[in-house]
Amino acid sequence: MAENFDVIVIGGGPGGYVAAIRCAQLGLNTACIDDQRNKEGAPSLGGTCLNVGCIPSKALLDSSEQFHRLEHQFAAHGITADNVSMDVSKMQQRKDEIVKSLTGGIGVLFKANKVTSINGYGRLMAEKHVAVLDPETGELKQTISAPNIILAAGSKPVELPGIPFDGEFIVDSTGALNFDRVPKRLGVIGAGVIGLELGSVWNRLGSEVILLEAMDEFLAAADHQVSREAARQYKKQGLDIRLGAMVNRVASKPNGLAVNYTQKGEDHVVEVDRVVVAVGRKPATEGLLAPDCGVALDQRGFIEVDNHCLTAEEGVWAIGDAVRGPMLAHKSSEEGVAVAERIAGGVGHVDFNTIPWVIYTAPEIAWVGKTENELKAEGVPISTGMFPFAATGRAKAMEDTAGMVKVIAHAETDRILGVHIIGPHVSELIAECVVAMSFHASSEDLARIVHAHPTLSEAVHESALAVEKRAIHKFG
Ligand code: FAD
Ligand code: NAD
Repeated sequence: MAENFDVIVIGGGPGGYVAAIRCAQLGLNTACIDDQRNKEGAPSLGGTCLNVGCIPSKALLDSSEQFHRLEHQFAAHGITADNVSMDVSKMQQRKDEIVKSLTGGIGVLFKANKVTSINGYGRLMAEKHVAVLDPETGELKQTISAPNIILAAGSKPVELPGIPFDGEFIVDSTGALNFDRVPKRLGVIGAGVIGLELGSVWNRLGSEVILLEAMDEFLAAADHQVSREAARQYKKQGLDIRLGAMVNRVASKPNGLAVNYTQKGEDHVVEVDRVVVAVGRKPATEGLLAPDCGVALDQRGFIEVDNHCLTAEEGVWAIGDAVRGPMLAHKSSEEGVAVAERIAGGVGHVDFNTIPWVIYTAPEIAWVGKTENELKAEGVPISTGMFPFAATGRAKAMEDTAGMVKVIAHAETDRILGVHIIGPHVSELIAECVVAMSFHASSEDLARIVHAHPTLSEAVHESALAVEKRAIHKFG
């Protein structure tokens, strides 16, 4: 007989573990199956985000930024230091400890909330049974069942045809998080979020980083003025971003790798020590579903769901990276909470129009809502207000003045439709804009709110004022 639960969650990432905790809080007897194990072979909850994604990448971004500031920016404050060096193994050890502490913390939360944690690979079978397999041998360990199942299997890096990962020289993001020394020349295929964040880490530590991006447009998802400013800043930092570059082949050479690519019809070769492939991620759904389980995948392997994250099979839900929408940890978690609420008979809601995006480079990039180009293409009449950080006292005091805030409002109703920021600590500033948009605020609302002085948030305030051309600390 299969053991019964009220809810079974497959996947223990920020989608799955949050869903499991919320289900348990709502009084549902919940099990969460996850197959991740750490370097020591012990179960390691938290999915991509905690183990090999958001958290380790931000740990390395922080270490490398401190190092870069000490080397290049502290002198302006009158601080100088001789013989500055970076101990890469210590940096990696710090990162590993952060990961261990946070992944361990999920286990503690599960215990406190009485979530049954099962380490294994879960496969959805017919009639809402779940087979739990040994992740290495595939051997059946147990079968469990529940009237409600949440699929939160997450995603995996995309591998380019003919350029397989070898775990050492041609690596995915996980490999790039674990380099044991600074590569002299690092090739990055794909100048998207991962390419820029991890490229920045190794660039700051001394690598010559060459990013090969297939698209002609840089950071096409961001507002064009933000992308333009980002490209300028990254160039100043030494990131060599080559657009319209289609990589054909990576060949081994005695002293490294030769990356062959085509740009504007011409063939080029760049020689590097290591290559990071960061060309996107795909849903981790291979093997997840038995043919008779009633749940369908789309052509790209995403689990098909409706607006409420419900699959074609009643009682089977799917969330996070494995379904449509942005591949972001906070999107996964919010879908997890919403599904838990629905299972418990309540109302769950995720506002897809106000999901914030952040790119944790320096300067940081953050946005919420639509870009100017998207709104113009839709024929929406807009007014925009911009304000540079260079005109704020706080950014000047910090010696960190690059970037600006851009508020986009509807030209007739004044409702805020998007906010796009590049600059210092903007990952935190964007929260105010998300709240404003969630409450359907107008630019006038933001403009009338008192912002503390001197803070970076004054740039948000001034850009809201600038929508009506009444920013105080700006000409024109
Ligand atoms: P995942 O986190 O992928 O978790 C799924 C879990 O389920 C995994 O543990 C997986 O092994 C397990 N699993 C899969 N199939 C099965 C199965 N059949 N049985 C049992 N277990 C299974 N997002 C942000 O919002 N901010 C960031 O700063 C950020 N940085 C990132 C940096 C990097 C380098 C990477 C790679 C990603 C980053 N992301 C970031 C994206 C973020 O990690 C994902 O959007 C998020 O982890 C998705 O959560 P999830 O729960 O849907 O899936
Ligand atoms: P991405 O979609 O952000 O960028 C991939 C880039 O690779 C694109 O610019 C694409 O045009 C380019 N590309 C695709 N094929 C190529 C090829 N053959 N040659 C050269 N370039 C090619 O994907 P990613 O950087 O791999 O990140 C995956 C996902 O992980 C992101 O979409 C994001 O959702 C998530 N993530 C988020 C954060 C964050 O929130 N800060 C950080 C890292 C990852």
